[in-house]
Amino acid sequence: MTDIQQVVPAPQDTAGRFRAFGARHLEELLRRGGLSDADRLAVRAVATVLPFRTNSYVLDELIDWTAVPDDPIYRLVFPQPDMLPTGDVDRIAALLASGAPDSGIRALAHEVRMRLNPHPAGQLVLNAPSMDGTVLPGLQHKYPETVLFFPKQGQTCHAYCTYCFRWAQFVDEPDLKMSTDHIDTLVAYLRRHPEVTSVLITGGDPMIMNSTVLRRYVEPLLDPSLEHIESIRIGTKSLGYWPRRFVTDPDADDTLRLFEEVRATGRSLAFMAHYSHPRELSTPIAARAIQRVRDAGAVIRTQAPLIRTVNDDAATWAEMWRVQVRSGMVPYYMFVERDTGPQDYFAVPLARAHEIFRDAYASVSGLSRSVRGPSMSATPGKVCIDGVAEVAGERVFVLRMLQARDPGLVGRPFFARYDPKAAWLSDLVPAFADRFPFESPPTELVA
Ligand SMILES: *Cc1c(COP(=O)(O)O)cnc(C)c1O
Ligand code: SF4
Repeated sequence: MTDIQQVVPAPQDTAGRFRAFGARHLEELLRRGGLSDADRLAVRAVATVLPFRTNSYVLDELIDWTAVPDDPIYRLVFPQPDMLPTGDVDRIAALLASGAPDSGIRALAHEVRMRLNPHPAGQLVLNAPSMDGTVLPGLQHKYPETVLFFPKQGQTCHAYCTYCFRWAQFVDEPDLKMSTDHIDTLVAYLRRHPEVTSVLITGGDPMIMNSTVLRRYVEPLLDPSLEHIESIRIGTKSLGYWPRRFVTDPDADDTLRLFEEVRATGRSLAFMAHYSHPRELSTPIAARAIQRVRDAGAVIRTQAPLIRTVNDDAATWAEMWRVQVRSGMVPYYMFVERDTGPQDYFAVPLARAHEIFRDAYASVSGLSRSVRGPSMSATPGKVCIDGVAEVAGERVFVLRMLQARDPGLVGRPFFARYDPKAAWLSDLVPAFADRFPFESPPTELVA
């Protein structure tokens, strides 16, 4: 314990200034967790492939260091030695141990990344909208009513989740990034798309931007010519990872004023708040941040993926929803871990995911049952596992689309053969049909 205090920069941040820790701090931090030499090397190898970032608040107030490596918050932000295929980790670890040049390590890390499906659900191409024949970078328009906007300065987070589905945004791979600083382009696009009612500003985490930069993106959306925009949403984990953003940071008050200005135009300002574990809700500063954001007129909806070894039990979710509702938040989505990055490590089979959802859902009041899930954000849309049923003597998953590229498919039940190991839509086979509703019929039938 004492020697740990010596190697880890002490929490000098009693004033609460943001301080990030990255890969170059890993060795010291892992010593604090008491990891063996071999595990520390393996973790550093994983961190050459996947991004690592944490901060003083997560380290000092969220992680229970006496419970490392099993502590859920530790597992939420620290790479795990066995997160990637052993062969890959061993090869990189060998290079690190032999002091190989950076270029060789980077090349190998790149090779491993390319095998991790960096852009799931075809998001770089399939969802990119265009205007006057030009593809618009940094925007995604998948469902008619909602446009996603990736502001250039919002493409990091206060800490990185080990399971992050946007991990490709954070690593040194320029071809894998999407972002823009052209707010005028977004405004022009929205003027031409009256069907869009909601703009979701996302990242990374847009709340990493200071209020001056955030304002530059949000204010143009309040223009009277964009009356059809009913809500501005901010996808963020800042309430969990850096609640001081809304309480003690120098621009906290100005940020809250910006939210009030959105409200004053008659629009909803919605936080799509990512909470992975009830511990993120447990500190006094986290409660204070929630209160202040709500007092500014924002509605906070909560969502997170179900992650093996972090939050894969019903009691954890039930507690999380209860605390959220008690603090005036609205539980919104439970997601299935997406088919990217270390999915094999974190995935919970769909059958088990549904059990966890149902057990948690059954144990909370109706106020928490605004939540939907478990939901897969897949290429055709958001597919919800509604249950497992016995139909005509066959055991099947009952599925339903919560969102679809084709809105005609939303809310219509369909079936897949029960498979206890299936962990993603691509593992499923249609039941009572030769294709899923979102799949096009074979071309000869069309003809
Ligand atoms: C989830 C999602 C949305 C928002 O869907 P809601 O159901 O309205 O919250 C929009 N675009 C994409 C690409 C999404 O994955
Ligand atoms: S907060 Fe979201 S974008 Fe940021 S690391 Fe976590 S999952 Fe990724």
